[in-house]
Amino acid sequence: MKVIIIDPGHGGNDPGAVNKNSFEKTYNLKIAKKIQSYLQNNYEVKILMTRSSDATVSLDERTDFANKQKADFYLSIHQNSGGGEGFESYVYINVGAETKKIQSAIHARTASVMNKYGARNRGQKQANFHVLRETRMPAVLLEVLFIDNAGNLSLLNREDFQNEVSAAIATGVAAGLSLKQKQQETKDLFIAIAGAFEQKENAEARVRFLADKKISAFIDEETINNKKYYRVQAGAFQKRENAEAHVVKIRALGVTDAFVIVKGEDRGQGPVPEPPKPEPPKPIPPTGLSIQGATLLTADEIERFVRKVNPNAPRLAALYVQLGQVYGIRGDAAYAQAVHETGYFRFQGSVKASQNNFAGIGATGKTEGATFKTPEEGVLAHIQHLFAYSSTESLPPQYPLVDPRFSLVQRGSATAWNQLNGKWAVPGTNYSNMILEIYKSMLNETKAPLQERINQIDQQLKEI
Ligand SMILES: [Zn+2]
Repeated sequence: MKVIIIDPGHGGNDPGAVNKNSFEKTYNLKIAKKIQSYLQNNYEVKILMTRSSDATVSLDERTDFANKQKADFYLSIHQNSGGGEGFESYVYINVGAETKKIQSAIHARTASVMNKYGARNRGQKQANFHVLRETRMPAVLLEVLFIDNAGNLSLLNREDFQNEVSAAIATGVAAGLSLKQKQQETKDLFIAIAGAFEQKENAEARVRFLADKKISAFIDEETINNKKYYRVQAGAFQKRENAEAHVVKIRALGVTDAFVIVKGEDRGQGPVPEPPKPEPPKPIPPTGLSIQGATLLTADEIERFVRKVNPNAPRLAALYVQLGQVYGIRGDAAYAQAVHETGYFRFQGSVKASQNNFAGIGATGKTEGATFKTPEEGVLAHIQHLFAYSSTESLPPQYPLVDPRFSLVQRGSATAWNQLNGKWAVPGTNYSNMILEIYKSMLNETKAPLQERINQIDQQLKEI
């Protein structure tokens, strides 16, 4: 039976990263214990912990213990800090294929849960950490989330998140080490596949599309008839009817190439009885109003709308219209986002009027975010940040880059307004809706007097 060491980072006198009353060591232990019980309940495996209470254990003690046990795998659980957001995984520098394979298996499954909860995937990395360097077996260290990020910390405090992320890490460990499943009555596993692709980018786009629809999925590589496919796994079920019901739900979202495969658990490899369908050439349809597009309203119409609520709002509409045009962004909808972020420019949140930060760039509720020298620069940064999300093109040359977080955006990851949920605002499940509701009011309030005028003209025509 394989032996796995699970290492909850820090503990005892060493709290790890600290955010007020929240200590990294606490979350490390919680998640590590959940991973432990998930693995013990579901797989033939022996789990040993470097600590299972709030004890002080040195780094040497941890790695000596693992080496003495001749463990097959070492998993270290940490939380990050230092002003970022999201999750990352580490292996030692220049490790072999075996360790990389385990890292990938864990990383892919964890990323799928992070995606669902709107946390960023910061990638698979290498580092010269003690526990990775001094262990004589494959070792992976996870930085689950950032304890000093308000959104991340609130996720870490959620039981559902803890359970899902721990289960994802555990199934990744099991897949990476080919752990044998414990015997259960049901031999077969029914897996919902939401498309199989020859190009990895297409599979990744599908995973993002599903995440936006709150369906978690990850990419599984499979070679069939000497051809490599990237299959999007969107759930595994003990009963065929449940898998089929899930596939029906996925197809209803427009993913018509979803299907069910049967995986024999005790056959380990999981051969595929049904061949995957060839990838469809059509791109995933954008959902709802696009971020890129023409500005419909004039600056005057926008100003009239905002002034009904706040007569003292700064005059920014013309800038949004003009810069929106340069970057191909809907300036009026961007303005609606600024209205939402600033509360009709009354700035009663954590961002102050003097910052000229109309889109809450870098603000998290606890941190006040970026400051721009002038209102013009603030609007420019806002439009550039939307450009980062909605386009993969390089920046138009007219203006210098002023958005300080441009390079942190996954380019092209949100082409429609309702894809900003969990990206611009974390978790932000209602963020896009609130923007679009404001934009709708803006359109409706502009339309009403125009409609009135058309009615009057019609009346006049009738009287002639
Ligand atoms: Zn740590």
